[in-house]
Amino acid sequence: GKLTVQLPHTQYEVHIGEDVYDLFSSRYIGLLQSADRVGIIADKQAADLHLHTLLDALRTAGVEPMVKIVPAGEKCKSQDVYFECQSYFVKENFTRNSLLIAFGGGACGDLAGFVAATFMRGIKFVQCPTTILAHDSAVGGKTAINLPEGKNMVGSFHQPSAVLFNTKLLATLPPREIRSGMAELIKHAFISDAEWSESLLEEASFSNPTEEWLSTELLKGIQVKADIVAEDEFEHSKRKFLNFGHTFGHAVEAVYGFGGLSHGECVMIGMAYSFILSERHGKMDASFTDHFIKFARINGYSFAPVLEHSFESFLGFMEKDKKAAFGEMNFVILEKLGAPFVRKVSAGECEQVFIDLQ
Ligand code: NAD
Ligand code: ZN
Repeated sequence: GKLTVQLPHTQYEVHIGEDVYDLFSSRYIGLLQSADRVGIIADKQAADLHLHTLLDALRTAGVEPMVKIVPAGEKCKSQDVYFECQSYFVKENFTRNSLLIAFGGGACGDLAGFVAATFMRGIKFVQCPTTILAHDSAVGGKTAINLPEGKNMVGSFHQPSAVLFNTKLLATLPPREIRSGMAELIKHAFISDAEWSESLLEEASFSNPTEEWLSTELLKGIQVKADIVAEDEFEHSKRKFLNFGHTFGHAVEAVYGFGGLSHGECVMIGMAYSFILSERHGKMDASFTDHFIKFARINGYSFAPVLEHSFESFLGFMEKDKKAAFGEMNFVILEKLGAPFVRKVSAGECEQVFIDLQ
C-alpha cells in the first residue's frame, strides 16, 4: 500500500508492505544518487535482527552506506547520542547534500530525524520504521530528543523525503511492543471512524496480528495521521486530536514507565480515562468504556498503575504536560466515536474521573 502526505511546502510518500525496500532501486534511486553520501542511524536491536535486509536493498541500488548504531529504545534520544551522531557524520565527510536513513523504532526515528533536521542546518532523510508504533511516529515530521528534565524537550519539525515501512520486520516484535503499537492504531480509529473502531474492538487476533492484516490496518492508521498533518502540520488545531489518551497516558508513563510499561500500554490506560471524560462531556456511553476496558484486558493490557498509585502522583505530571495551563488540563474528548474535540478540565474533575476509573 501507499499514500501521499501532502503539505503546503512539500510532499512525500509512505509505502507499506513486505517489498518496500525494493523501491530504493526504482522509485528512490534518484534520491540515493543525488546524495553525495548515505548514512544509516540504526537502533541496536533492530540492526541486530534486520539491518542486513536494508543493507542488501541499498547495495542492490549501488549504495554502500555508513552505519551509525545507537542504543535500542528511548536511551538513544539523549544529548550524548545526538552529538555522537553529528560528530560521526562530520568525520565521515557528510555534507549538506548527504542523505540519512532512520532504521528502527520510534525512538531511533525521532533521534535520526532530529540529527537530519540539524546536521549542517538540515539534510534530507528517509524513515524506515521497524515497529508497529512507528507507523505513527515516522509520519508527520515531529523529531526530538529528551532532556533529563523531560521527554521530547528539544526537537523540530522536519519532514522525511519518504517513509518505507517494511512489514516483514515486525515479526520479531515482542508482545509488549505489539501492544504498544496497536494502542496507537486503535487511537487513530477512535478519533476518525466509528465503524472502524467497532471492528477493531471485535478483532480476535488484535494482540497477534498477521502481517497482511497489519499492512491494511496500519495504512488506514497512517492515512488518518497524514490527513490531520496535511491540514495542521504545526499542531495549532486538529493535530492535537492525535493526543487522544495521551494527557493521562503520559502521566502514567512518567510515573510507571520504568515499571516496564510501554508507551502504548500507558496510552491504553489514558484512553480508558478519556472515555470516562467523554461520558461526561460528550455523548459516549459508560457501557462502551466497560467494553473497551474488557477488550484491553483480554488483549494483555494492564490497568495496575491506576490501582497502585494515588491521583496526586499523576496530577503533577499532567500539569507539567506541554498542553497544560493554569491548573486546568487540556484533554482530547470524544463527542462520539470518530468525533474528537479539545476541552479544558479542572484538576478536581480529573480526580473524580480517576476515582471512576479505579
Ligand atoms: P522504541 O523505538 O523504543 O522501540 C521499542 C523496542 O523495540 C526497542 O527496544 C527496539 O530496539 C525494539 N525493536 C525495534 N524494532 C524491532 C523489531 N523489528 N523487532 C524486535 N524489536 C524491535 O519504541 P517505539 O514504540 O517504536 O517508539 C516510541 C518512541 O516514539 C518514543 O520515543 C516516542 O516519543 C516516539 N514517538 C514519536 C512520535 C512522533 O510523532 N515523532 C509519535 C509517537 C511516538
Ligand atoms: Zn503516542
